[in-house]
Amino acid sequence: MINFIFKNTFILISISIFLSCSKEEDTSPGNIKSTTNTGSNQNTTSPASNSSSESNGDTGPTNPINEDFKCGNGFYYSSRPEPTNEDNTHRYYEYVWQSDPAICLNIYEESLLGNRVNKVSDFFDWAKLNMPNIIPVNVFYIDQENAGDQSKLQHDTDFCTLVRNPDDIGECIAESKDSWGERSHGAGVYASYLHKGADLMIYDDAFKHSGGVDEGMYYLNHEYFHTFQTGHMYYFEEKKQFGIRIKDESDNIPLPFLPIWIGEGGADFASITMMAKQNLNFDPYKQALSKLDQARAALQGSSPSFSLRNFENENIRVNDEYYAYGGGTMAHIYLWHLNENNFKKLIVDYYRIFAEKYKLNPQSGWKDAFEETFGITLENFYLEFDAFMRKDRDSQIAIIKSAEEWEKASWN
Ligand SMILES: [Zn+2]
Repeated sequence: MINFIFKNTFILISISIFLSCSKEEDTSPGNIKSTTNTGSNQNTTSPASNSSSESNGDTGPTNPINEDFKCGNGFYYSSRPEPTNEDNTHRYYEYVWQSDPAICLNIYEESLLGNRVNKVSDFFDWAKLNMPNIIPVNVFYIDQENAGDQSKLQHDTDFCTLVRNPDDIGECIAESKDSWGERSHGAGVYASYLHKGADLMIYDDAFKHSGGVDEGMYYLNHEYFHTFQTGHMYYFEEKKQFGIRIKDESDNIPLPFLPIWIGEGGADFASITMMAKQNLNFDPYKQALSKLDQARAALQGSSPSFSLRNFENENIRVNDEYYAYGGGTMAHIYLWHLNENNFKKLIVDYYRIFAEKYKLNPQSGWKDAFEETFGITLENFYLEFDAFMRKDRDSQIAIIKSAEEWEKASWN
């Protein structure tokens, strides 16, 4: 296996021998849910599968074991460090990686991956520069259809070591071993392993769809944005600390709630503009149109009560389309068309105030952040957007930005 690490501007490549792989289940953090089955074009997110239950507040060495980060040499911490401080709702942490969280690319059986390895590696160079995350990202890249057993086992061992406690690694590996060939891409982070950074699972079948390698970059962009979203959900901007809600840990809630249409629609929306800025054979306008058509297909023959609000918790297919993705993306596009400033708000600002809002009111934190960020009540937004989705296609197309606008829009 080869690890690339993206820190600052240099890339360190180390080679080690690996065994096998990981698992990713369709669970994603919290709500960012994933679909199963890699074959579909809906990818999914999610990481950590089941990690939630374990590790609450595990103790362990406070000191980092891999501070001067070397990819492939373990994570920054073997277990969660002691909190820096706490209040009546949260424990707060300052991690050694905060000044420059690394992106570590773990590659298994590189000989099967061809020059797609460069493509993936170049993407993370781009991301490090253009959409830097605030937490480390541990990427696991393998050809799940053709890799050997040894590589698969190493992959799962590495992944399980990230998302589970040492005592549960064996169980984690055993749970996932039969899902090879059917795994979906996934990414994100749970509180239980936040100190080690997010996971991002990408399988080589992403690049083997009919649209070719560049089309497959959609999965990578989409999943990367999940690591960005979920990392921010714990970060308190003013304190410059990460906070984990004490009651969530005792209740085994792995990640604060985020509606599926925001999680998935947000990742699809971000992936369109991110891809527009990379040198890819990709037309953001056409991609947005296809999201519109997916959403319209889901609406076909629906009852008048059909609403985006039904996709806060449910990630179901309607007429074969996932409305949380297509409709969720259109909801973002709709907000952008309401106000140019909403573009940056959709990609960055919403997530920046999320932790504070969640602390004040865990039941409605995501909604409070929405209303404050966009200056519209959620109720009104649902009414407006649902009505918009009932308009004729030409009126809907009229709000979609041109390819050039997607390319130039800035979240900085
Ligand atoms: Zn996703």
